[in-house]
Amino acid sequence: MLIQLILCPILFSFLYQITNIKALTFKFLLMRSKCDFCQKTISWLQLIPIFNFIMLRGKTQCCNRKLSNSYVIGELLSCGSLIILNFTALPVKSAVLLLIYFSLLVLALYDIETYSIPIHIPIIVLITTFILGSFYFLQGCFITLFLHLMFYCCKNRIGYGDILIFALLSFILPFTIFFLILWLTFLTGGCFSIFYIVLKRSFKLRIPLVPFIFCAFNIVALCYPFLNMGGDIIEY
Ligand SMILES: [Zn+2]
Repeated sequence: MLIQLILCPILFSFLYQITNIKALTFKFLLMRSKCDFCQKTISWLQLIPIFNFIMLRGKTQCCNRKLSNSYVIGELLSCGSLIILNFTALPVKSAVLLLIYFSLLVLALYDIETYSIPIHIPIIVLITTFILGSFYFLQGCFITLFLHLMFYCCKNRIGYGDILIFALLSFILPFTIFFLILWLTFLTGGCFSIFYIVLKRSFKLRIPLVPFIFCAFNIVALCYPFLNMGGDIIEY
């Protein structure tokens, strides 16, 4: 358990670094981590997640610039994957669950910062889940087509990055689970929007949707038997 707790933030940091690179090559896997601002190679001590952020008070050691809070938030939330793995009743392979959890976490933080998603992450997830044997080709094709029609009809209401993430999930998760995530995303996102409009008294809002997809995934993972109304669990 302790090893897993140490490994989760390290895995998150690695994935979060991948989201920020412009061109993905195998050379990246062998490269040392660099400072986001001055590109100086980071020392081994600075690579220790959470501890490093606290010790340096959220600043870089090399150029004293403020680090993004996404690092420490993501490193802390990465440990939540252990809760999902230990308590979920989802009929999905553990490796696939971990992959979805970590990719949605990095994409959610990236979406909050940039209102976009790096396209190479969904592609990596799609290829990896295909190799892991969790792939629903026909279902994914039909839902992806439907999602694109929805995007065309609701232009400017939903981002294309969000459509791509839902399309990805439709290829790698059974339909019931995919549908519950889709439904809960719009339910939680809708409630948040109403709350925001009432609180700010403004209709000018732009919310990143991926954090809600991440929340919906976690709710479904932890409450699946309840959300599925006690129905038969789909075998994979
Ligand atoms: Zn620096």
